Amino acid sequence: MRREGNNPLTEFTVSSVLCACASKCDVLTSKQLHCFSIKNSMDENVFVGTALLDVYSKSGFVHDIKDKVHTFMAGERKHPRIMEILLELDRLMEETKKRGVYKPDAGYELHDVEQGKKLELLKHHSEKLAVCFGLMSLPEGIPIRIMKNLRICGDCHSFMKSVSSVESREIIVRDTNRFHHFWNGHCSCNDFW
Ligand SMILES: [Zn+2]
Ligand SMILES: [Zn+2]
Repeated sequence: MRREGNNPLTEFTVSSVLCACASKCDVLTSKQLHCFSIKNSMDENVFVGTALLDVYSKSGFVHDIKDKVHTFMAGERKHPRIMEILLELDRLMEETKKRGVYKPDAGYELHDVEQGKKLELLKHHSEKLAVCFGLMSLPEGIPIRIMKNLRICGDCHSFMKSVSSVESREIIVRDTNRFHHFWNGHCSCNDFW
């Protein structure tokens, strides 16, 4: 450790430089400052933390700030906030159906089970749980970023489009094939992926 206790001057300097980085979307310098602040135990400081969140969100790297990637599996039950996530999912399902922007399509659920079960499995695809968690935990206006180690299915794709319009939220999904940038009910891939 290069220092002990809090050094307001250094923290003030780091957060000021980070604010400058945020306005220029300078992620490289921000990452170096982030490492510096972790090494010097400054990352818990509220000004440094806020400045980091600002620069990463402006540059679209929100998950880096928390150093914690939330992982969801289909049918997830172990996440500590799973009950809230499922309630949020129910709310979104209601809202999107009510507005006529989303209708579940069980054709995308490939498990060989009866229709009712298919719809339940489809509803709990990992990216649907992840977007609910993002809505619950990220401040308004911050895009939700999801990484998927498989291709996003057609049903989740249309769900993301509808959530982006109903919640006025930018959603970015990176799957094995490409980036999908959902906004205002549309996806950047124009539904070809
Ligand atoms: Zn899916
Ligand atoms: Zn897409």
